Amino acid sequence: MSVLDDAAVRRLMRNAWHDSRPGTDLAHEEGGFVLRDSSGNLSVERWPTGVQNEIFVPPHTGGKRDNLLVVATFHTHPNPGQDFQQEPSLTDIRAVRNDPDLRHPEFEGEFVISSESVYLILKDRDILPINKTLAVFEDA
Ligand SMILES: [Zn+2]
Repeated sequence: MSVLDDAAVRRLMRNAWHDSRPGTDLAHEEGGFVLRDSSGNLSVERWPTGVQNEIFVPPHTGGKRDNLLVVATFHTHPNPGQDFQQEPSLTDIRAVRNDPDLRHPEFEGEFVISSESVYLILKDRDILPINKTLAVFEDA
């Protein structure tokens, strides 16, 4: 069971991807929290707009935003070409792995969306290439 199984979550992640203006001079990172309430309903809270290759993650003490549990996070890598890394960077990986607020068992990982592929940074293992970006978003 992944948050990507939820069509609404996929649609909101696709919106963030488009908002990051991939492949243009205005390309910048977007991202957000995928949150779950006590009834199991998922929602997305977007992070403040980032810059070209950086984004600030709001505080999420205890793995929560208010009373909602952070079950996944995501951010975009909208800059195409060889000057920019498409896959998750070492900084990205460390940010997830060294975050004590994301250690809880319900946290799936951080999705990184690039023009080619969607990756998942797992909190205690590796990076998982999820799928081609188009395939993830095609029915969103
Ligand atoms: Zn990144």
